Amino acid sequence: MPHALIVHAHPEAKSFCNAQMSEAVRALQAQSYTVEVSDLYAMNWDAELNRHDFTHDVEGPFKPPLAQEQASKSNTFAPDIAAELEKLRRADLLVFSFPLWWFSLPALLKGWVDRVFVRGTAYGGRIGTFAEGGFRGKRALLLFTTGSLEEHFGPGARDGELDVLLFHIQHGMLWFCGFQVLAPVISFAPVRGTPEARQQQLGQVRLALSTLDTRPIIFG
Ligand SMILES: Cc1cc2nc3c(=O)[nH]c(=O)nc-3n(C[C@H](O)[C@H](O)[C@H](O)COP(=O)(O)OP(=O)(O)OC[C@H]3O[C@@H](n4cnc5c(N)ncnc54)[C@H](O)[C@@H]3O)c2cc1C
Repeated sequence: MPHALIVHAHPEAKSFCNAQMSEAVRALQAQSYTVEVSDLYAMNWDAELNRHDFTHDVEGPFKPPLAQEQASKSNTFAPDIAAELEKLRRADLLVFSFPLWWFSLPALLKGWVDRVFVRGTAYGGRIGTFAEGGFRGKRALLLFTTGSLEEHFGPGARDGELDVLLFHIQHGMLWFCGFQVLAPVISFAPVRGTPEARQQQLGQVRLALSTLDTRPIIFG
């Protein structure tokens, strides 16, 4: 059975973002996926990459990439990182579920990437990048909400082009580490819509997560 890991970062359990994440879980389960959710706020996830990421002695000046490479060889990651790496190993599909904050990921989710996409496992050292990345063979997808309307995005539009805006995540994080990246699933400005429009948006999330095999590939 295929397995999905959803890494979710929204501080409010009753948010629309949370509702669409739950919709995604149900849609994937209906496609016979087993699903695991890392709900970063609920887990009180520590977003700070630092010496405490390792159980081996980090002596001298702290060089994060080297410490990560060492820990990848000696299995000496702190338990919270080791647990997320284990979830990733199990996963065929990774979903980042979040509200768009400052044209990017909430800091908690960025901190998850900093601490979990580690050198020596996700990329680098004995592992390559992009098509040779540590997570090759897995797919990934962004599932997010915005405050801006759909027409605010695009060539010449106020907020710019979404492909450009998302490049650092879809290319710089996911494809860099070997994931095949599927077209993002976006609910634009749920706060501005009617209850009916929001139900429609949840329906679109359900449909998108039910048809992953025909979803356009952005990278990989
Ligand atoms: C720090 C920060 C930076 C930001 N930067 C950006 C940015 O760069 N670009 C941008 O576009 N936006 C930005 N925003 C706005 C942000 O993206 C939106 O506030 C967010 O995506 C809205 O999603 P939400 O889940 O939080 O909405 P919510 O406010 O939780 O929900 C929206 C509406 O849906 C309703 N709802 C909740 N659950 C359900 C349900 N189950 N069914 C139907 N309706 C439901 C709620 O009652 C509410 O009326 C930023 C916000 C912050 C705080």
